[in-house]
Amino acid sequence: MTAEIISGTQISKTILAEIKDEVEKMKAKHGKVPGLATILVGKNPASVSYVTLKVKTALSVGFNEIQDDQPEDIPEADLLALIDKYNKDPDIHGILVQLPLPGHIDEKKVINAISPDKDVDAFHPVNVGRLMICCDKARFLPCTPAGIQELIVRSGIQTCGAEVVVVGRSNIVGKPIAMMMAQKSICANATVTVVHTRTKNLAEHCKRADILIVAAGVPGLVKPEWIKPGATVIDVGVNRVGVNETTGKAILKGDVDFDAARKIAGKITPVPGGVGPMTIAMLMKNTLKSAQYVLGDL
Ligand code: NAP
Repeated sequence: MTAEIISGTQISKTILAEIKDEVEKMKAKHGKVPGLATILVGKNPASVSYVTLKVKTALSVGFNEIQDDQPEDIPEADLLALIDKYNKDPDIHGILVQLPLPGHIDEKKVINAISPDKDVDAFHPVNVGRLMICCDKARFLPCTPAGIQELIVRSGIQTCGAEVVVVGRSNIVGKPIAMMMAQKSICANATVTVVHTRTKNLAEHCKRADILIVAAGVPGLVKPEWIKPGATVIDVGVNRVGVNETTGKAILKGDVDFDAARKIAGKITPVPGGVGPMTIAMLMKNTLKSAQYVLGDL
């Protein structure tokens, strides 16, 4: 068996085209477009490249994008005041503060300062709570888990009654995707197991999965013999394992031994080109939704 590739690159392009369409309709109806403020503190190379991609994508779908670069040594109070300014700006529908922040700034305070109605990363405790209560009613879902769910649903994979095993229990991926897949909802209704570093018999749990979602940050952690034949494998891991000497670019590997897993799984996401592009597409979707709420279209 050779698993079918679930292409996040292709699916995210479709989603971005849908968003662009909605933005054009919004402009025609209200004379407004969604506004996204992206705050980058310092010049961490990974953060600079993530923000550059987010800004480029926001502009490509027709958003009003404000890239607000701040110095590494910005006082915490000044950053909080900046967030407050965007909270009050009616033309800004989404605020994104690129993490991680320098050590002198309390990330929790920053996340809590963003209005839950503009929190397009969905990290604010109010949005985390809404997800827990009911995903279908949550205004924003966290971008990586929402991207994973879209990949599954748009690939026609049956989730109702499926055994889902999530490797990893982080606040940004493992816990929210587990919660989302267990919800009483047509895109979920799965039976979910969460495994982590203290789990006994990790391989045995993984072998039961109809849908195996891996977000551990350990290159090649999941071996082919851990995969149930025909299962869907979603590899969230992005691990920099070296540098390509010709291009100077990082060599990326997932948490799953892709070449070997492809011979066992039914469907599988590649790294890169799987979950990564979906995360940015879902950030755009959240910003669009935020503007649609404000304009009374949702
Ligand atoms: P994290 O905060 O480091 O959490 C990793 C989780 O995996 C922890 O719960 C940890 O268990 C578990 N884990 C680690 N090693 C394990 C092992 N050997 N066996 C079982 N469980 C293990 O990481 P994260 O932020 O969730 O990110 C995970 C990966 O996804 C990273 O490679 C990251 O770069 C990638 N990522 C990709 C995207 C994207 O858009 N593509 C977005 C976010 C993250 P404990 O809790 O017991 O420590």
